[in-house]
Amino acid sequence: MDLVSRAGEGGAECPSCGGVFYDADTLRALLAEVRDAPDAAPYSRPPLSLNDPVQYLRCPLCPEMMNRHNFGESSGVIVDICNKDGVWFDDGELAQVIAFCASGELTKSEKLAHLRQQQRKEIDARGRELDRVILQHARASIRTGGSPMIYHLIHTFFR
Ligand SMILES: [Zn+2]
Repeated sequence: MDLVSRAGEGGAECPSCGGVFYDADTLRALLAEVRDAPDAAPYSRPPLSLNDPVQYLRCPLCPEMMNRHNFGESSGVIVDICNKDGVWFDDGELAQVIAFCASGELTKSEKLAHLRQQQRKEIDARGRELDRVILQHARASIRTGGSPMIYHLIHTFFR
């Protein structure tokens, strides 16, 4: 695939298929510019195309196969990512992603992801605390000649 640099917008495009490729930094800068535009239209997701065969593409810059990723977790635009070189957008996908960012949906999605991560941490911490309390009670129960059932549980779960 021969890519041609895009003047002004950055990135490089394939003249025959209309796909564009951006390195991560250039893409980040572009999306930061368009993000959360006050007059942007509400975002509408592209229709799901369940019948299209899943196709993995090779990176245009290196020999690696790219990973497929739902941009912003919820845009419905499946982009192809080379972890080393950047992101490939099929013809039309970059415009969709820009609309997604401009509408504020990327910001919403990032806030949700952050919230989920915090909740996961809290749940993990509570789980560890619960384990600790159960173990403590079980040990105390053994010391005071607790039931054989507790003893059995401890040897099953807390070896
Ligand atoms: Zn690559």
